Amino acid sequence: MANSKYEYVKAFERENHLLPDCYILVRVDGKGFHKFSQEYGFEKPNDLGALMVMNQTATRLVEAFPDILMAYGDLDEYSFLLRKECALYERREMKLITLFGSMMSTHYIMEWNKQFPEKPIRQSKLPIFDARAVVYPLLKHVRDYFSWRQVDCHINNLYNTVFWALVSKGNMTPKDAENRLIGTLASDKNEILYSQFQINYNNEPEIFKKGTVLIREYQDHTSTDHHQQQQLSKTQLEKEKKKRNKAKIVMYHIDLIKDEFWDSRPFLC
Ligand code: ATP
Ligand code: ATP
Ligand code: MG
Ligand code: MG
Ligand code: MG
Ligand code: MG
Ligand code: MG
Repeated sequence: MANSKYEYVKAFERENHLLPDCYILVRVDGKGFHKFSQEYGFEKPNDLGALMVMNQTATRLVEAFPDILMAYGDLDEYSFLLRKECALYERREMKLITLFGSMMSTHYIMEWNKQFPEKPIRQSKLPIFDARAVVYPLLKHVRDYFSWRQVDCHINNLYNTVFWALVSKGNMTPKDAENRLIGTLASDKNEILYSQFQINYNNEPEIFKKGTVLIREYQDHTSTDHHQQQQLSKTQLEKEKKKRNKAKIVMYHIDLIKDEFWDSRPFLC
């Protein structure tokens, strides 16, 4: 850009560089998707096609950024885990979150129109996403983060499953269903589903109960810590980058809380 007497205004800008040597978690969430899901006639409590749109959208982001180790999402949200050594946009927070948010919105429209050609996105009701970034120094934090999101998915899904059973099968008004569920525990909700609607919650689809995890999976992984990373030669780093680019992105609907998930995937650490 050409210099000018006006350029001093640039000096007012402030940048937050996310802490080095920490995992970065970017979470995106759809704005007003309760309303959005009504406008586009989502099936309740879970519209599988809309979940596929989110999963495909998130896959496009994982493909775009090889620094993403894994992603997890349900309903209108997704969390992306970036490796500790990520140097994307010099770890500038504003760059990262604005790009993640806008990539979610634009890819969502593309994926939606593939999934639902008969009901394209209307300009009067666009899918837009907020985004935030959080840094976590330890793997323990990362594990607890994903456990937190998966427990949240479970709690919401159990609630929504009973709520919609009461409304659509039990002929209750939404208000009455809401009141019926005040103060109920998980066991009460399971009991209502079973005794009133012969629904065994355990038999509900895994994608609804557990959400979706996308993993960049490596076959021949050799683990290097941050210190070792810094010692790697340029050609070694290039080789690592190529491996990341070539790794397959795999989709699961599984438990992220138990040790098994993490123990069997050292490349996530
Ligand atoms: P960054 O990701 O850092 O923003 P950038 O390539 O987008 O990198 P900018 O400083 O934002 O760089 O500059 C945008 C550039 O896009 C312009 O310099 C110009 O080359 C190009 N550009 C954008 N709009 C037009 C347009 N309407 N006609 C011609 N060139 C354009
Ligand atoms: P905010 O802007 O604060 O995020 P919101 O309306 O998006 O508001 P959330 O807490 O993010 O609220 O909840 C998202 C809502 O979107 C869910 O409660 C649900 O009603 C709806 N929703 C999203 N995806 C689906 C889906 N695949 N099937 C059915 N409903 C969905
Ligand atoms: Mg510009
Ligand atoms: Mg919200
Ligand atoms: Mg939302
Ligand atoms: Mg949400
Ligand atoms: Mg630009």
